[in-house]
Amino acid sequence: MSELKKCPFCGKSDIHIEQKGTFFWCECYDCGAISREHHTLPGVNVLQSEDIARGYWNQRPLEDALHARIAELEAEIERLTVHSDIERQDDKCSGHGDISNFPPVMGSGDGLGW
Ligand SMILES: [Zn+2]
Repeated sequence: MSELKKCPFCGKSDIHIEQKGTFFWCECYDCGAISREHHTLPGVNVLQSEDIARGYWNQRPLEDALHARIAELEAEIERLTVHSDIERQDDKCSGHGDISNFPPVMGSGDGLGW
């Protein structure tokens, strides 16, 4: 038996499995959101029907897809960040960004009188 996820609408955890006759569903007591109903047959195990209703409530395909995409993007950021550190070390070695000779010093005898 799995736990009921928080309400996708209000974020609260006051979720209950309801039953009326042969119908089972989950309901948020805070905002009134309800899951799809499961209609069972008379004589079917109540725990099994509750588990199906719980599965309907916990089914979050868009949320799951977003979490998977966020994990992908975080991994990509991590990969690019590590890569950037290597590039910065390379830049130091190649002398890019070295401003010790800037601005160029005008030497005497160049005819401009500086
Ligand atoms: Zn709610």
